[in-house]
Amino acid sequence: MWTPRFSGKLESMRNPEYVPLICTLLAIEVAHLRWIIFTQWRCRRCASPHIDCGCKPNWIKRLL
Ligand SMILES: [Zn+2]
Repeated sequence: MWTPRFSGKLESMRNPEYVPLICTLLAIEVAHLRWIIFTQWRCRRCASPHIDCGCKPNWIKRLL
């Protein structure tokens, strides 16, 4: 039966050893999304990428 093996797999997923790994992957993903926002999104006023834009909204400045 697959059920005991599946639940055993879930049990190992809850192993605390995975928590730092998951946190690291989340941090990498957040940094990646920030990089995309700053380099790929363009400002509506000055048409510069947000990384070069001087008039970006405060919420974007806070992300820096
Ligand atoms: Zn701008």
